[in-house]
Amino acid sequence: MKIKNNVSLRDKHTFHCECYAETFIEIDEEDDLILLDRNFSEIYQKAFFIGEGSDILITKNSLPLVIHCNINFIKIVEEDLNKVIVCAGGGTKWDDLVDYCVNNNWWGVENLSGIPSSCAVAPIQNIGAYGVEFADVAYRIYGYNFKTHKFEIFTPNDLSFSYRKSKLQQMPEIFVTKIEILLNKNPQPNLSYKDLKNKFQDKNPSLQEIRNTVLEIRDNKIPQPDKIGNAGSFFKNPICSKNELEILTKKFPDICFFKYSDDKFKISAAWLIEKAGWKGYREGDAGVSTSHSLILVNYGNATGQDILNLANKIIDSVKNIFDVKLEPEVKIL
Ligand SMILES: Cc1cc2nc3c(=O)[nH]c(=O)nc-3n(C[C@H](O)[C@H](O)[C@H](O)COP(=O)(O)OP(=O)(O)OC[C@H]3O[C@@H](n4cnc5c(N)ncnc54)[C@H](O)[C@@H]3O)c2cc1C
Repeated sequence: MKIKNNVSLRDKHTFHCECYAETFIEIDEEDDLILLDRNFSEIYQKAFFIGEGSDILITKNSLPLVIHCNINFIKIVEEDLNKVIVCAGGGTKWDDLVDYCVNNNWWGVENLSGIPSSCAVAPIQNIGAYGVEFADVAYRIYGYNFKTHKFEIFTPNDLSFSYRKSKLQQMPEIFVTKIEILLNKNPQPNLSYKDLKNKFQDKNPSLQEIRNTVLEIRDNKIPQPDKIGNAGSFFKNPICSKNELEILTKKFPDICFFKYSDDKFKISAAWLIEKAGWKGYREGDAGVSTSHSLILVNYGNATGQDILNLANKIIDSVKNIFDVKLEPEVKIL
């Protein structure tokens, strides 16, 4: 375990806004958590756990205590002719795990290439892209419970995965330490997503071809956080009833929406923001991406508060025009 004081968080989250952690603790192995738990009572109520910092906006100048999972490894747990179970430390970068699996010719996570997540947070957020989500490969999730002072193991049944959600989001006392995923050794391409279907048509792409294509599509659509600070999609796609959708489509016939369940629909937040005229808007160093209206960006020295002010203006404007309330997808601290 490493403990440091007064640590800049600018490079520890993808918006790259300046902020300090009064105390920053790195967990290098699972036993560090027992030591930490013995020395600080109710630590999970005072601390913020951080992974790759790709789903947060920090609006404060400093945070009292930040804990980072630095448990890094990838190993095979079990395998037979058809399947393999792979375990990765919570601090391992998700895309390093994807790269490792693709290089070994194991199928399941290739569509999730390029997501800037830690492995610890992949199940918490149930990360997803291009027709696949973490839940599809989840096997076991390991964490330390700061309330019961015990290590716990969760199976997919325990976690009720749904769209960008898992039960872990309601369990702030759990610090995720490692994950296991179940992969296929036989080809199982998922080309259901339009861009992948168009690209490969009737061909049988290799794992590496799928990974490269996903990375290429992402590169063209999403600004890379090491070049322009951002946290991916800033807002959730609002969900509405059939009646609400009918009212909207009467007023705005070209509105973009998707079916969510039998009687619920998702409105494209990107469409609403673009139609409200915000795409490419810039105010100082805070802005809306020129390539994707759902992504708010930090061009350099925007503070978290600058980004939040811009987000609030967008929320007000979309509410005034469409009478639809946008909600942030990123966690605001
Ligand atoms: C450019 C870009 C593209 C993106 N594309 C996608 C995409 O295609 N699909 C998608 O699903 N998401 C996407 N995201 C969102 C983001 O990558 C995911 O939500 C990711 O899972 C966040 O992981 P993280 O490690 O950065 O979490 P962080 O932002 O560090 O933390 C997220 C939450 O997890 C908690 N947490 C952190 N570590 C632990 C731990 N060890 N134990 C318990 N809780 C912990 C934090 O307290 C916080 O509440 C994108 C983000 C960016 C910046």
